[in-house]
Amino acid sequence: MPSEFSGKHVTVAGLGVSGVPAAKVLHGLGAHVTVVNDGADERARTQAAELEALGVTVRLGDGTASDSGSAAGLPEGTELIVTAPGWKPTKPLFTAAEQAGVPVWGDVELAWRLRGHGGRKAAPWLAVTGTNGKTTTVQMLASILEAAGLRTAAVGNIGVSLLDAVTGDTEYDVLAVELSSYQLHWAPSLRAHSAVVLNLAADHLDWHGSMEAYAADKGRVYEGNQVACVYNVADRATEDLVRAADVEEGCRAVGFTLGTPGPSQLGVVEGLLVDRAFVEDRHKNAQELAEVSDVNPPAPHNIANALAAAALARAYGVPAAAVRDGLRAFTPDAHRIAHVADVDGVAYVDDSKATNTHAAEASLAAYEPIVWIAGGLAKGATFDGLVAGAAKRLRGAVLIGADRALIREALARHAPEVPVVDLDRTDTGAMPQAVREARRLAEPGDTVLLAPACASMDMFTNYNKRGDAFAEAVRELGA
Ligand code: ADP
Repeated sequence: MPSEFSGKHVTVAGLGVSGVPAAKVLHGLGAHVTVVNDGADERARTQAAELEALGVTVRLGDGTASDSGSAAGLPEGTELIVTAPGWKPTKPLFTAAEQAGVPVWGDVELAWRLRGHGGRKAAPWLAVTGTNGKTTTVQMLASILEAAGLRTAAVGNIGVSLLDAVTGDTEYDVLAVELSSYQLHWAPSLRAHSAVVLNLAADHLDWHGSMEAYAADKGRVYEGNQVACVYNVADRATEDLVRAADVEEGCRAVGFTLGTPGPSQLGVVEGLLVDRAFVEDRHKNAQELAEVSDVNPPAPHNIANALAAAALARAYGVPAAAVRDGLRAFTPDAHRIAHVADVDGVAYVDDSKATNTHAAEASLAAYEPIVWIAGGLAKGATFDGLVAGAAKRLRGAVLIGADRALIREALARHAPEVPVVDLDRTDTGAMPQAVREARRLAEPGDTVLLAPACASMDMFTNYNKRGDAFAEAVRELGA
C-alpha cells in the first residue's frame, strides 16, 4: 500500500533503541532510508549490518558533524530527519536541516504520525512526563487500565516500544505513554487524550540549555489535550505549564495533592485516595478510590504517583474499583525504593534509580533515621538543598564515586555532626565496602538507603548494575 513515506528520502539520526526500529519501519513503508551514527563501535557495526542487509544505507562514524553548519551536512536529498531523542538540538545536522527547511521528528513524533496506519485502531494516548516518577506512574496507570478490562500497555522507556505499540499486530484501546523531555522536544504534533507533568526540577539542563527550555519541552505534553491536563498541586511550575498550554475546548485542569482535595482535584482524606474531579457535582461530592495502603510502597512520592495515574485513568472514564484493583496489582520495578533485606534490625533499601537530587530528596523523606549511600556523577547538580533538608534524618553517610566531594562539602556545611565515610575507590570492591561501612554506622531500626542523587556511569554500566551490586553486597552481609 502506498504511504506518505513511499519514495521519500529520510535520514535517521542515530542507531540504537529508537533508530534501528525507526529505520526498519520507514524502510518497510517504502522510504529511502539513510542512517547516520556518530560512533562505529561493535554494537553499531552489528546493527548497521542488520539494516544494510535490508537495503538501508548506514553511515557509521558520521553524525554529519560537519562543523560548517551548512546544508551540506545533510545527506543528499534528505526530505525528513527522524532523530534519536538524545541528540542535542545544537548539532550541526539540525542547524543544516533548519536552514534547508527540512523537518526533524523524534521517535515519538514518528509513532504519533503512524497511529492508525494500515487500518489499525488509533488508540488514544494517556501521557506521563516529569522529572521523576514517570516509569512508576505509567506502570500504575497501565495496571489500572488493565483492571478496567481495557487492552493497554505501558510504553516508552520500559516494556513495549512506542513504534511497536502503534505498528505491531496487537490492537490497543488506550496506551499509557512515558515521555522524556527530549522526546517531547522532538514531538511537535503530539496531542494526548490527557497528560500529566508529575513534577519539575532541574535536570538535563546541559541538553536543554536552560530551565526555561526544559520546562517548555515538558509543557508540550499538555498541548492539544482533550479531556484533562493533570498537574501537581505541590509543584506550582506544573500548574503554570497547564495555564500556558493550548488545549481542546472543554479540557479541564485537574490537580493531585497529598492533602485534602479541593474541587477538580484528587487527594488524600483519612487514609483514602479520593477523587473530587471526575464525580458529579464536584463541589459537594467525592468518590473514594482506594486506600493509601493499596499503594506499593506507600511512600509519599509514590502516593503522589498513584494519584496522578488515577487521575489519568479517571479522565479516560475508568471506574473507581478498577483504580483500587490496578493499584493493588502493581509491583514496582527493581531499584526504585526496593526493600532488599533486613540485617540485624537494619533495613537495606535500593533506590539506585534516584539518579538526581529531586529523586533522592523524595526517598530520603520516606525514612528515618538513615545511613545514606550517595555519590556518582553529579551532572552539574548542587547538593546544598538536598543535604540541608535531609540533615536531621541522617545517622551517617557513605560517599562513593567521582563527584562525592560535592556531597561531602554540602554535608560539612549543613550537617557537620553527621559522620561521613568517604570511599576513595571505584573498583568492584567499592560497593561491598560502602555497604559494610554503612552497617557499621547503622543502629537497629535504621534504614541504609542507596539513593545516590547522581548518575552511575563513573563506576557502573547503569543504575541497574549499581543497584544489583548493592543488593549483592547486602546479601553478603547476611550470609
Ligand atoms: P522516571 O521514569 O521519571 O525516572 P521512576 O518511576 O523510574 O521515574 O522513579 C525514579 C526515581 O525517582 C525513584 O527511584 C524515586 O527515587 C524517585 N521518584 C519516584 N517518584 C517520584 C516523585 N513523584 N517525586 C519525586 N521523586 C520520585
